[in-house]
Amino acid sequence: MKCFNHMERDAVAACQKCGKGLCKECAEKYTPCLCDACAAKAGRERRQQAQSREEQRRQKYKDALVDTRSEFIKIAMIGILVGIFFVWWEATHGSSDSGFLDYIGLFFGAFCIPFGWKFLTYLQSFVPVSLFGTFWFWIIYIAVKAFLSVFAGIPAFIYQLVKTIITQRKINRLEQKGEKTSEEKAVKEENEAF
Ligand SMILES: [Zn+2]
Ligand SMILES: [Zn+2]
Repeated sequence: MKCFNHMERDAVAACQKCGKGLCKECAEKYTPCLCDACAAKAGRERRQQAQSREEQRRQKYKDALVDTRSEFIKIAMIGILVGIFFVWWEATHGSSDSGFLDYIGLFFGAFCIPFGWKFLTYLQSFVPVSLFGTFWFWIIYIAVKAFLSVFAGIPAFIYQLVKTIITQRKINRLEQKGEKTSEEKAVKEENEAF
């Protein structure tokens, strides 16, 4: 058998894909031993695979960001309901001298409670103890957690708001140029946490 590229030379090897004869010079060109056409094809396939892996990773990253955003919206909706409840309660049961600003303050404070609740739940995830208890234990537990949520609420809300704005920017950037960033991993880990 002669070399496919050099008709004058004897083949010392064969392409591992298509079996064409290759001389010593041609056989040493690629590892594994391939002819030019098969090496080019293999390179194309490798690039396509790398590209689709890249796209999958980008999509996963984007999904995680969108999750963070929807989680924020969900908590904000609960916050609005809690806020409305507190304002309603104050209006029907509270002191009659509450002014407009008092209601705004009350609404905002109550709106932030679910954010505080989520923050406390996040802190609890560091405590490797599962809680068991009676009905009354749970009532007290929820009451204490709700009480603490009031204090944790406003900072937790601000933190989540800033984080969501940054997340939204990242989503926009991804949609615009579909460019991957090295912060990818770090952000993903962040999203898995609080
Ligand atoms: Zn070949
Ligand atoms: Zn050759």
